[in-house]
Amino acid sequence: MMANMISENLANVMERIKRAARKAGRDPAEVTVVAVTKSVEVKRIKEAISGGARVFGENYVQESEEKIKKIKDGSVKWHFIGHLQKNKAKLAVELFDVIETVDSIELAAELNKRAEARLEVFIEVNIAKEKTKTGSAPDGVVKLARGIAGMPMLRLTGLMCVPPDAPEAEASRPYFITLRRLAERINKEQIPGVFLRNLSMGMSGDFEIAVEEGATFVRVGTAIFGARQTK
Ligand SMILES: *Cc1c(COP(=O)(O)O)cnc(C)c1O
Repeated sequence: MMANMISENLANVMERIKRAARKAGRDPAEVTVVAVTKSVEVKRIKEAISGGARVFGENYVQESEEKIKKIKDGSVKWHFIGHLQKNKAKLAVELFDVIETVDSIELAAELNKRAEARLEVFIEVNIAKEKTKTGSAPDGVVKLARGIAGMPMLRLTGLMCVPPDAPEAEASRPYFITLRRLAERINKEQIPGVFLRNLSMGMSGDFEIAVEEGATFVRVGTAIFGARQTK
């Protein structure tokens, strides 16, 4: 894909976010695009930076290490959005600004132990309770949030989810609503040090619906970079 295509795609995504936010009576500035760069090489990531992207999402610690070190741009933030294994926690805390996929107290404890500065984390919720997906069960999230609240190196600020694959974007709406309500419920618990201001939800196929339902981060890959080589 040509360089200016990436900028153009990014501008198009931003425009669609703006429209969806306005439709829902939200300020578009509340929504940040996480440009998802799994399998996207450094050159094209730099093109996205030129096009205005400032937050990137990676799924694999090893794959991202080289890219993040090469790009070394203080104005860019990296979110980890894949399944994190405990034995990668040390490297992950070195590389990433936000870990979006904390889904167990054991992983949280490992991150807390390895972090050298306060680390922002989201809880990944298995919102449709799919057997094939990672993430905390919805009814375990309050307990997990309480556990993370007691970990001095972690700052829990949000929830993240990946709804079931569906041909229709509208099919994701009930899951996005459920995630928002779950965050609201946790905020009502007034757990010391925990306020969930962030909802990371919506991908290329359904980000406008997610914005309508309160997303603060949308994770968009193919709509910016084109189709990925299948792994
Ligand atoms: C790959 C991926 C995305 C981006 O998906 P697209 O459909 O390409 O926008 C978002 N979130 C997660 C967790 C992913 O793994």
